[in-house]
Amino acid sequence: MNIRKGPCGEKIGHYEIIEEQKVPDEMGTKTYVRWLIKEEDGARAFAMRLFTIKPGGHINPHHHPWEHEIFVLDGVGEIRIGSRVYRVSPGFFIYVPPNVEHEYWNKGDKDLRFLCMIPLKPTVETDEKIEC
Ligand code: MN
Repeated sequence: MNIRKGPCGEKIGHYEIIEEQKVPDEMGTKTYVRWLIKEEDGARAFAMRLFTIKPGGHINPHHHPWEHEIFVLDGVGEIRIGSRVYRVSPGFFIYVPPNVEHEYWNKGDKDLRFLCMIPLKPTVETDEKIEC
């Protein structure tokens, strides 16, 4: 199994052969990410990441001037977006707007896995946090 890169710029691969990187402690606990598609692959507009949060793990509150588009694959989690907390499980999709504070918890006893797409460049001018 390997990653195939074709003559038109395409990239085809299986997630298991992408290196799993631990998210730094200041960003979260028991959390790992695989960058499936990124700018270095030739992507022009957005990147695709696969996150795994182990049971008890957490991604710390943060905000940034770009959005997230998330699809939950496995596990049970909660995501806080602004002042609200949402419980999610496989099949749920989530849009997180730019500059809204968000954080994630694995609330189950197995891995919480989700895809998270981000634009390669900020999508708004300011990084001022929006209260909502
Ligand atoms: Mn984020």
